[in-house]
Amino acid sequence: MSVVVVVHGGAWAIPDELAKASVDGVKAAARDGFAVLKRGGCALDAVEEAVKNMEDNIVFNAGHGATQNTDGEVELDAIIMDGSTLSSGAVSSVKNIANPVTLARAVMEKTNHMILTSRGANQFAESIGMTTVPTDSLVTEYERNEWEKHKTYVTGVREEFNTHWAHDTVGAVAVDSVGNVACATSTGGIRNKMVGRVGDAPIIGCGGYADNFSGAVSCTGHGESILKVTLARLILLHVEQGKSVAESSQWALQYMADRVHGAGGCIVVNRSGQWAATFTTKRMAWAAVDHDGLWYGLDPKERLNDSLSI
Ligand code: ASP
Repeated sequence: MSVVVVVHGGAWAIPDELAKASVDGVKAAARDGFAVLKRGGCALDAVEEAVKNMEDNIVFNAGHGATQNTDGEVELDAIIMDGSTLSSGAVSSVKNIANPVTLARAVMEKTNHMILTSRGANQFAESIGMTTVPTDSLVTEYERNEWEKHKTYVTGVREEFNTHWAHDTVGAVAVDSVGNVACATSTGGIRNKMVGRVGDAPIIGCGGYADNFSGAVSCTGHGESILKVTLARLILLHVEQGKSVAESSQWALQYMADRVHGAGGCIVVNRSGQWAATFTTKRMAWAAVDHDGLWYGLDPKERLNDSLSI
């Protein structure tokens, strides 16, 4: 069975000054996730590892580097899902947690629930001894400056999401050596969102979905649009109907553009190792590792290969 990991670092109009760091970041995360699979780890471990890597990288809007809401606070959302059992765990509006994806996994594995939010999610983190960090330490100088510049939240229709308002959600999908698929997505959301706003990322079927029978998806883009079309599930519905993972992604993103004027991106893998990285925004940093090496891109239709650097 061929093992594959695909990651994204968010779909938006990534400015040139962040381009190299974004591409380097997704390449490093994809290598990290793939190393887990090569050691015999499962798809769930691989996506958690890849997403943690990007949560720790300040170029991305997840964990360290997250965007701030209208009150200048960080509120983080994350999901993880196991395609073999359809088990999933998610957290929303959490503070003080550097790796929300790991907390989401704990919700999946240690509770009878699927989503914990805000204070309850933080209380749960404390109860399982998860390390907390001062929320302020998650905010970078870059984010403080951007937040000051754009103090008004804009309802992100397609054009708006193609400006600098949006910012770098991260995600990963993987298939392991026994053919199990998994997905994970983590984000600080949209800059200047209302306090308490929950986006698509932690909502099952929207920011992510994984089912061995069809594949695994992680989405990025304008959350309110993704929620309206349940983007991750919509993509997999088309896979189930016989389209390739690439065609299904293109179809669903185009549907989201036509139906609700939303822009975004996604990564998809199925259990036979077919994968796709697709977006309707100006750019999306993505990387994948399969049996042919490391693939990556940033601009539309860009697909570079780096076979030596796995
Ligand atoms: N989908 C995320 C949200 O709306 C943002 C993003 O992908 O950049 O919260």
